[in-house]
Amino acid sequence: MRITIDPILKEIAALFINNNKEIYLVGGAVRDMLRGKKNHDWDLTTNALPDEVTAIIKKAGGKVIPTGIKHGTVTALFKNHSTEITTFRTESDYSDGRRPDKINYAATIEEDLSRRDFTMNAIALRLPKGEIVDPFKGVKDIKAKIIRCVGDANERFSEDGLRPLRAVRFASQLGFKIEKNTLEAINGALSISAKVSWERVREEIDKIISSAVPSLGFRLMENTGLLKLFIAELTDCRNIEQKGFHQFDVLDHSLLACDYAAAKEFSKEVRLAALFHDIGKPSVRELDPVGVWTFYRHEEVSAAMCHVLLNRMRYSNAVIDKVCHLVNQHMFLYTENWSDAAVRRFIARVGETHLDDIYCLRRADIYGFSGKEPDYRSIKQLVERVNKILTAGSAFTIKDLAVSGNDLMKIGIAGGKTMGVILKKLLETVLDDPEQNTKERLLEIADKINKTVSF
Ligand code: ATP
Ligand code: MG
Repeated sequence: MRITIDPILKEIAALFINNNKEIYLVGGAVRDMLRGKKNHDWDLTTNALPDEVTAIIKKAGGKVIPTGIKHGTVTALFKNHSTEITTFRTESDYSDGRRPDKINYAATIEEDLSRRDFTMNAIALRLPKGEIVDPFKGVKDIKAKIIRCVGDANERFSEDGLRPLRAVRFASQLGFKIEKNTLEAINGALSISAKVSWERVREEIDKIISSAVPSLGFRLMENTGLLKLFIAELTDCRNIEQKGFHQFDVLDHSLLACDYAAAKEFSKEVRLAALFHDIGKPSVRELDPVGVWTFYRHEEVSAAMCHVLLNRMRYSNAVIDKVCHLVNQHMFLYTENWSDAAVRRFIARVGETHLDDIYCLRRADIYGFSGKEPDYRSIKQLVERVNKILTAGSAFTIKDLAVSGNDLMKIGIAGGKTMGVILKKLLETVLDDPEQNTKERLLEIADKINKTVSF
């Protein structure tokens, strides 16, 4: 394996060497270089203390931000590159399985590497030349595609309950196998994993849904107990049989949909929606009189459950709102028989800004029926019709109506609930027939509704 050190890293290294300090490239960048992949997310480690690191970088004209000073880490901005520089550390006192209680600086690179999680992440390249320091045989494990804890797996997992999830995430991202002892230790550490903050867990889940094959990660989570611990709503989908086009139970179907949505062009919200779009199915499933499973209104129940689940996982409100909306709207079955009015109502229901995402979600959902690339002709046809209708320009929201609330007040319509109901009816009228969207016509219709309907 050829090791090439980026010229900027060599320059940074020279600053430290000139100050009689050691500096190494560590972490994901080394792992990825040894796998023949590029990774410019540089983590450096040094025997210089954070104050010394700061002085060295500043003297050379760079900037330093104390991003992780509690852990001995600063971010150095040097010649347009950002690198994390951490002083050699040992981590010994974990009283809560979440984070070490205090930093203890280490004297040697070997000691620093020994506190790292997996052998593939415990390799350092001594700068500026790039000599490999590999006390735990990480290079061999990378070649064999194995994820193995540094030292005793039970001990490593009891120190930090996030590590089991990191193992699963790396397996999903890299397509590596988790070594037997490491894998077996996960189940025994679940009570430690339960203490990890949701923010840290969520970061790993985000990485799994964006990995090459997310289902690999979720299946490992399921087999080790991590899925039940963090997302029991998904384990409840296991063995929930379906009928019709479906070949899989609800969990396998959801995982396939999630695999499909992991492709680059999909947004994080679509990925989450693909994973969770059917989580309401177990609670609404009923057998109909001819013995076929039904899942009436599961999209609404799934969306409501998504709200609770994503809140628990500390996703932002913007992400939660979008995912829940997509889940709530995922059940449309387009056929050629849809009238133009039906297409307009679809646009109004989904919202123009969410259309691309809902097509993506629908494709992922259909893929999940069989796990094979299906025929998307009907979605393509819907997209064409939607685009044609959008180009023609019409009203899809109350704001697009030719009358405003003020106009309606002027003809004596009361504000509040009455106004809301009438505006909604006007929009329905215009969605049915865009020709009606003139001020004169809408005022006439509004007046009539106001006089005939009791609110
Ligand atoms: P990624 O490509 O996701 O950034 P990474 O291996 O660089 O992968 P980081 O979270 O950036 O992961 O961490 C950098 C390094 O710090 C890791 O390679 C590992 O050596 C160490 N590390 C990170 N988190 C832990 C942890 N929870 N326990 C032990 N070591 C850790
Ligand atoms: Mg990294």
